[in-house]
Amino acid sequence: MTTLTRDDLLERDSNDPLARMRERFDLPDGIIYLDGNSLGALPHITKDRIRQLIEDQWGLDLIKSWNAHDWYHMPRRCGAKLAPFIGAKPTEVVCADSTSVNLFKLLAAALAERPDRKVIVSEKGNFPTDLYIAQGLTGMLGRGHELRLIERDAELDGAIRDDVAVVMLTHIDYRSGRMHDMAAVTRKAHEAGALVLWDLAHSAGAVPVDLNGADADLAVGCGYKYLNGGPGAPAFLYIAERLQDSIRPPLSGWMGHAEPFEFDWTYAPAEGIARNLCGTPPVLSLAAFEASLDTMADLDMAAVRAKSLALGDLFIELVESRCAGHGFALVSPRDATRGSQVSFAHPDGFPIMQALIAGHVIGDFRMPDILRFGFTPLYTRYVDVWDAVDVLAQIMESGRWDQPRFHARGAVT
Ligand SMILES: *Cc1c(COP(=O)(O)O)cnc(C)c1O
Repeated sequence: MTTLTRDDLLERDSNDPLARMRERFDLPDGIIYLDGNSLGALPHITKDRIRQLIEDQWGLDLIKSWNAHDWYHMPRRCGAKLAPFIGAKPTEVVCADSTSVNLFKLLAAALAERPDRKVIVSEKGNFPTDLYIAQGLTGMLGRGHELRLIERDAELDGAIRDDVAVVMLTHIDYRSGRMHDMAAVTRKAHEAGALVLWDLAHSAGAVPVDLNGADADLAVGCGYKYLNGGPGAPAFLYIAERLQDSIRPPLSGWMGHAEPFEFDWTYAPAEGIARNLCGTPPVLSLAAFEASLDTMADLDMAAVRAKSLALGDLFIELVESRCAGHGFALVSPRDATRGSQVSFAHPDGFPIMQALIAGHVIGDFRMPDILRFGFTPLYTRYVDVWDAVDVLAQIMESGRWDQPRFHARGAVT
């Protein structure tokens, strides 16, 4: 049994160096939001920026805004503001398209970089879109290209052979929250002559990431999760400087052209990272993303990491002591190989999560049996963890989760 009390956690909140960050976000009263890993919360300044963009820029300055308000450079400007979160140079990142589309672009480019190699290595537990994109691409190329999937980490060494063009892994697993050793895996891939592509969907803005330090080649990630860029926010892509000149973008759209407004009939790639842009940027979405990056600009990621681990440790301790005997099995690592989420498996995970949401504790459910709780240190308080477990314990003790309404599934879980 835990010896902690709710007052202990109020005390921790009052000593928390990140506590004031919460004031920068809109959060509805009475809700404990543990799903910032699926859709980050709304920064206050985003609303004003969007209103201003619509009313003053689009509404008054119309087409002049591309130059007058520098809409044109938004993908690169947002990329430069995002770069410090992932250990990249400002000229190594752009914000564009979705994570899925960026995966396609970078996987295709990686295969073209290693023309005598035909294999993409990934893991079966990777996020489905990553695997689907790789399947679509290998099928489209149809020249003996292959997706080689491992079941567990121990198989990685054996899978990375001299026929591998690119190793594509998600840095932090979306189900378990388990984190790969980026530097060690990257080294392994390089020793075999392969490139490595990291999916940072659950890493960027959640944990310190050092792409340059790990000598990583390629990366993609989401804007709408821990980066709080808004629903369907543009994603990002990273290409190490040393590779940028040789990359041939498979989607050779005009926004990646050296001189788009020359309207030449032949394609010529832009210098550097910009050649990986494709079509006209989504200005409204990028404005929301940029507002969030500005909200987070002064973040101390070491403090974020320390608090995220502390919140997760606390949640594990409280669930295991206060919900003991109710069938929850921890899926996430207990140690610092855990990202910023904690997952428990439970055979009745789906209705339990629906009952939690009805009780104003918002997490999410992932097939087949995983209750997932994201801990975003920017706006989650220690006392929220106490209160969330309080609701969970009540739901389990009362059996309240087992009602028909909690078994009904919506289109999005
Ligand atoms: C959330 C997530 C995605 C989402 O891709 P979209 O193209 O934005 O739908 C991709 N990969 C991983 C690992 C994710 O967690």
